[in-house]
Amino acid sequence: MADIVVMRAVSSDNQAHADVVRKILDDNGVFGMNLLSSPGSGKTTLLEKTIRDNPDLKFGVIEGDVFTARDASRIEAAGAPSIQLNTEGACHLTANMIEMVLPKFELKTLDFLVVENIGNLICPAAYSLGVHKRVVLLSTPEGHDKILKYPQAFNTADMILITKTDVADAVGFDMKVVVEDLKAVNPKVEPWLMSSVTGEGYDRWYDWLRSNKK
Ligand code: MG
Ligand code: ZN
Repeated sequence: MADIVVMRAVSSDNQAHADVVRKILDDNGVFGMNLLSSPGSGKTTLLEKTIRDNPDLKFGVIEGDVFTARDASRIEAAGAPSIQLNTEGACHLTANMIEMVLPKFELKTLDFLVVENIGNLICPAAYSLGVHKRVVLLSTPEGHDKILKYPQAFNTADMILITKTDVADAVGFDMKVVVEDLKAVNPKVEPWLMSSVTGEGYDRWYDWLRSNKK
């Protein structure tokens, strides 16, 4: 059973806490990532497969969720320590919350700390968590029109993963629209195509992770 921490969003001065988080991660040689997306885009599935396929890489996961511990239990079953951070209704994580739960990990033993943020594309984008990279997922069933609808989520992304490409044709997902809209919103990031069903994109993702391991 994963550890559950209940926490409210009481962030005054989020950036100061983000700076503390970054220093702790750097001092321990841990590469941090903040996963952002809508609910159901495949964040937990991405993490489960990544953990299972790379037993030599050591992941710790902070699961942000409004109420349940379901995702943390899935991560622990995949073989990585996970802390469930329940926000009691709050719809985003803050750097203060990350700082508070970091001591629950044996950071010296980790290569990566992954924060699975609360599933929404709006306010999580406004809060830096002090990690090194912000990874935003967009699954094909959500539709190809989301880049311009939620520009802040996509223009602050360091990496954009288009997930569930195995059903792209069935749901009428038009990748050309995404590429075109990203040129306006975040031209420096090229979206990567991913499918946990076919395995598309995973080798490239794993290579990218390994290139960032400290
Ligand atoms: Mg999840
Ligand atoms: Zn929020």
